[in-house]
Amino acid sequence: MTLLQVSQLTKKFGGFTALDGVNLTVNKGEIYGFIGPNGAGKSTTIRVLLGLLKSTSGTAKIFGLDAWEDAVEIHKKIAYVPGDVNLWPNLTGGEVIDLFLKMRGVTVDSARKEKLIKQFDFDPTKKCRTYSKGNRQKVALIAAFAADADLYILDEPTSGLDPLMERVFQSCVLEAKEAGSSVLLSSHILSEVERLCDRVAIIREGQIIESGSLAELRHLTRIQLSVETKRAIDDIASVKGVHDLEAKENAYTFQVDGESLGEVIRYVSDFGVKKLESAPPTLEDLFMRHYEGTQSEGGK
Ligand code: ADP
Ligand code: MG
Repeated sequence: MTLLQVSQLTKKFGGFTALDGVNLTVNKGEIYGFIGPNGAGKSTTIRVLLGLLKSTSGTAKIFGLDAWEDAVEIHKKIAYVPGDVNLWPNLTGGEVIDLFLKMRGVTVDSARKEKLIKQFDFDPTKKCRTYSKGNRQKVALIAAFAADADLYILDEPTSGLDPLMERVFQSCVLEAKEAGSSVLLSSHILSEVERLCDRVAIIREGQIIESGSLAELRHLTRIQLSVETKRAIDDIASVKGVHDLEAKENAYTFQVDGESLGEVIRYVSDFGVKKLESAPPTLEDLFMRHYEGTQSEGGK
């Protein structure tokens, strides 16, 4: 079931085209990654979805309702976390969490809220003006996850969080999914999205350049292999699918096209494998490939 649908969305700021025909579909129960470098158009897309910006053309719908016309109705069932959280300097973190929850109009489960405060190792008694960026981020995250939402819209929500808190965040997202919610998660940190998301869309300069499940996108990526063998491997550089070879004595490091992996391992194994390490393809690789070759177009 489609929960969120963006079709041919275009947003111009004066003469500048920030979004150029963006299409996105998020289904119910899905964690959807929205990946792109800074300035690609992630927040602009999200602001249109939140009804904070009016599109120039195209449509943005959530729950089948129009993001601009029906914003009030939509907001009853969504939770939003921005990447840069602004708080009231003279309220405490705990007061702001309560205020955010009140603004969402949800009934608060105190035990759930307290559990999150503990998990995020957050001190809610301090005035907001004293909080670091990471702590301000926690305020918004705790308020978001302390109550159910049909859709969580998270715009680079973990900027400023340390790796331990990143893990807490990930468990919150997975719990939300288990509860049947959907999540739109924007990021320029690819590893975080990769671990969580069912499907991803990659945006660059206001255009979606790739979208699909990670499995669908994996064929585009290369796996890094490091092998150490008893005997020198004959002519490994010429084996199909092998790239960027670095060889030292009988130790080899190279990239392999996903589809050639089996063949390459069979080839290598004839030389007496002493050690074999592989690093899974990351979205980073995929991303870099998109930059290669498209950089000179410069389009708009
Ligand atoms: P991202 O969130 O992916 O980093 P944004 O959506 O914030 O990117 O920005 C996309 C592009 O639109 C950027 O070039 C940004 O400078 C521009 N932009 C965003 N908001 C405005 C605005 N209110 N006025 C003019 N340009 C804007
Ligand atoms: Mg942004």
